[in-house]
Amino acid sequence: MAKIGINIATGSLQKEEMIVGIDLGTTNSLVAIIHPETRQPVALREHNSSSLVPSVIYFNEFGNVTIGEEAKQYLITEPHNTIFSAKRLMGKSYNDIKANASFFTFKIIDDNTESLVKVQVGDKFYSPVDMSSFILKELKQRAEHILKTPVTKAVITVPAYFNDAQRQATRDAGKLAGLDVLRIINEPTAASLAYGLGLHKEEITTIAVYDLGGGTFDISILQITNGIFEVLSTNGDTYLGGDDFDRAIVKHWLQQVSMSEEDMFANKELSQTLRLKAEEAKKHLSSNETFEAEVNGDKLQISKVEFEQLIEPFIEKTLQSCRHAIKDSKITVQEIDTIVMVGGSTRVPAVKDAVSKLFGRPVNDSVNPDEVVALGAAVQADILAGNNKEFLLLDITPLSLGIETMGGLMDVLIPRNSKIPTKVARQYTTQKDGQSGMRISVYQGERDLVQDNRKLAEFNLSGIPGMPAGLPKIEVSFLINADGILVVKAKELRSGVEQSIEVKPQYGLSDAEVENMLLDSITHAKDDIAKRALVEARTEGEQLLETTEKFLTKNASLLTQEEIITTAEAMQALQLALTMEDKDLVHKKVEELNDISRPYAERVMDEAVSSAMKGRTIEQAG
Ligand code: AMP
Repeated sequence: MAKIGINIATGSLQKEEMIVGIDLGTTNSLVAIIHPETRQPVALREHNSSSLVPSVIYFNEFGNVTIGEEAKQYLITEPHNTIFSAKRLMGKSYNDIKANASFFTFKIIDDNTESLVKVQVGDKFYSPVDMSSFILKELKQRAEHILKTPVTKAVITVPAYFNDAQRQATRDAGKLAGLDVLRIINEPTAASLAYGLGLHKEEITTIAVYDLGGGTFDISILQITNGIFEVLSTNGDTYLGGDDFDRAIVKHWLQQVSMSEEDMFANKELSQTLRLKAEEAKKHLSSNETFEAEVNGDKLQISKVEFEQLIEPFIEKTLQSCRHAIKDSKITVQEIDTIVMVGGSTRVPAVKDAVSKLFGRPVNDSVNPDEVVALGAAVQADILAGNNKEFLLLDITPLSLGIETMGGLMDVLIPRNSKIPTKVARQYTTQKDGQSGMRISVYQGERDLVQDNRKLAEFNLSGIPGMPAGLPKIEVSFLINADGILVVKAKELRSGVEQSIEVKPQYGLSDAEVENMLLDSITHAKDDIAKRALVEARTEGEQLLETTEKFLTKNASLLTQEEIITTAEAMQALQLALTMEDKDLVHKKVEELNDISRPYAERVMDEAVSSAMKGRTIEQAG
């Protein structure tokens, strides 16, 4: 039964609380809901104004914040007090973004560490989570004003390549803004939902979501099977978008009027005017053949043909990403049933044509590309509200996850491209007698040695009761929940001692870095296999030395002096081999030591058995 109440603030009748869908974008953000009467997704807007709220935050001299269109005007007049693109900083350290630091006009604290970035405005410091929370708070207030009801529950979208830290940061921002974030979902998944894809139970379909916004580009390949969404692959470029088109037009005009870029940048007002004119020209050329304007007495013009030539390299770059994504998804272009267009820049006809040509079919562009992600988030919110029960959203992990084992080897528990949510467990044991603790180090990456991968977390499983080496059963489990957050748990099964950690990595990875890590793993594959073989041989050698040593101490009285000396010599030879980079030599010395000690061990065993049986009568059958 639906709850009905009265909103004391507005006096209006209030049904069960509405869950909103929020697209927290790099350039623009917006809120959408499923209309209670039409049951259609709609973006929220004040009368006659745009549904888009620019993701720009202006801090005045008293530290008060203004968000949106009003804040945007301060980008030029007060760049140090006006924050844009906060989403690019989510879950990042200064080291992560320093290559692009010149992109930001506000002050980012450069403490040269791996800790999360902060922005300084006046004498105050703000984290990306704080800044995103300001935007979310504004969206919440606007939605409450429009809907005349409190809004406390939301579904928020993030790029498919966002890692655990970035998803967690988005969740935290929601919480700070007073929102209960019921689910974080991937933007391409939301876009597909907005097209009603995956809403029919028997549907099996493959979708490519091409998202070209103002400053970022993403391509994702999704598969929907009976209401279950899976991201097969993602690719993109976090610094490519419509802003590049605008800059190309500005450059073109500067050539027309023979002005250098330095001269233009020296005049802030002029550069801003030209940038705005260029954007106007770009939009105009989406439905006209030419554009003309006059700035400071200079005549500026550009034709659609010229514009298309200017942006051709950018479009080609996006197509290249698409080809990579298709390859990674392990499906063929022909198997892709639908291409969904997202982001304002997909309104450019040349973009649509190029994408349609690559995929060999017309693109889906009937839903407003600026609103499509938020509309889909609203569809998901509706599913969570219980109106569309049978759906579950699945995603994939972009990089493998595992722990460090003997010799610094990476033991992968969840391979890259695994579907999530997922849970994997594996058993390990101790190396030493009476070992009471075990260090669990969690890594992300594709290389065989952990030193080449990225450390996410580390913790100690302590309190393992004293047992001989090899006896404790330590189960390490990895659980990735639907939001993509990883929980690592270690439990000693005999005693029940356990310890767990929620992985919120200190800093994030850009998709370019993910790509680099993958490329590295391919380049170093041969080398890595050799290294792994050496590490494995050494581990085996070390273990054999340890057991032989133990055997000698325990059974010295049962061996002759000569036998002890030959064993010690073989041990020494193995010890020496371990210091060299030669796995074959290690194997050889392991075998030699084994050959020498095996007969002694067998003899000792036989003697033990026969002495144990002395004095007992064994009943013979027959
Ligand atoms: P988004 O980040 O999805 O909001 O996309 C914003 C980008 O889309 C900006 O670069 C806009 O200039 C661009 N854009 C919006 N409308 C059009 C249009 N009609 N033609 C070309 N680009 C557009």
